[in-house]
Amino acid sequence: MPELLDALDLADGRRLAIVADDGGLSALPMVCDADGQWRRAAAGDGVAEALLAALARETGVATQGAFTVASWAGRVALGERPIGVDQTNQSVIVGDAAVVKWATHLQEGPHPAPRRVAVLREAGFGGMPSPWGLVTWRSEDGVQTVAASVDEYLPGAVDGWTWAVDLITAAAGDGDVGPVADAAAQVGALVAEMHAALSVTAAPASAQDAHRWRDAAFDLLGQACSLHDFAGDRRSEIAGALESLGALAGTPVIEGHGDLHVGQVLLSGGRFFVTDFDGNPVLPAAQRILPIPAALDVAGMVQSLSHAAIVARKYTDLDPTALADVDAAGRKTFLAAYQRRLASLGPAELYDPTPLRAFRMQQVLREIIYAARHLPRWMYVPDAALPALLDEGVPS
Ligand code: ADP
Ligand code: MG
Repeated sequence: MPELLDALDLADGRRLAIVADDGGLSALPMVCDADGQWRRAAAGDGVAEALLAALARETGVATQGAFTVASWAGRVALGERPIGVDQTNQSVIVGDAAVVKWATHLQEGPHPAPRRVAVLREAGFGGMPSPWGLVTWRSEDGVQTVAASVDEYLPGAVDGWTWAVDLITAAAGDGDVGPVADAAAQVGALVAEMHAALSVTAAPASAQDAHRWRDAAFDLLGQACSLHDFAGDRRSEIAGALESLGALAGTPVIEGHGDLHVGQVLLSGGRFFVTDFDGNPVLPAAQRILPIPAALDVAGMVQSLSHAAIVARKYTDLDPTALADVDAAGRKTFLAAYQRRLASLGPAELYDPTPLRAFRMQQVLREIIYAARHLPRWMYVPDAALPALLDEGVPS
């Protein structure tokens, strides 16, 4: 039986409940039916509208028991519909104006999003859906996590597993890399603007940080080699690429995105937006919140662009050489635009490219482990990405 741990009343017969069951904790929208019974609400039951109304009553930060409600927009909207895409949590679009995301898979705290989003807001970062509000909940041990978030709705938004794959496919088909380069340049500038906005959190990495990064990468290498023959065959070469992580003491770290890849970048109305500041889901909560080198986010984007090209190859009969050229051009343009924009904004020293290749390699190892354990049909991506990355060699 699900157990009700806590509830935040939003309106008559509408509330946000914290519920525990065998699967863990959930933050669920609940509605009270005419017979007085509470049930989980769906889009159309008015709980997302009620949250917007509660947020709009008072902007600022208010605490109610174990809940903290931050409100920035002060706007209401009416008319609920489900977001209609595959997702982990439950999002409801309200009035084509806002998206309410209920954390039906409540993350163990501490949760990285409240601080990262607050820093980005304060810096005036415009490259994310404008945040309207955030509801956090403190568990008995005093650790805070996100129960619900409300963001501006981006009409017709598609993520990079759609827009990047489509652009790469078109470019490899007609030989015009222009649109891919243009998108890569815009996304490079966007990531630089995000990092510049987060630069107030910068600090030097400790020797302990560097050892943790190296140990974590070698742990992934061990797992990947036991699951993937090719990784096992090339173990010493991969290890050579990861070794540099241990020497990163002193490199700058920031409270970066932490889980950046093309799937986190939405395209809407011809503009790109970064989403999802929940941190890397494969890390334990205590590590998910730690600051990272900017190169970790950059590597996540660069490597996922390669993965998008591998997806494009799988679903078309495009010439592999043409695809490889488009892939390389997109990555190069992304990196150049990132560095140029970061320098133009000031904090060029925030980005140390030393660990770029190691973090890209780590990302491929994670894909191997993920595919082997959860999604075997994804394995063609690391199958193709690992030899390609090894062949790229050590950049000069
Ligand atoms: P989950 O963490 O539950 O998987 P996400 O926050 O990653 O949910 O969102 C899932 C999808 O919902 C995104 O890939 C995107 O298509 C859509 N989406 C997310 N935020 C917005 C937004 N502000 N406007 C429009 N669509 C969005
Ligand atoms: Mg996501």
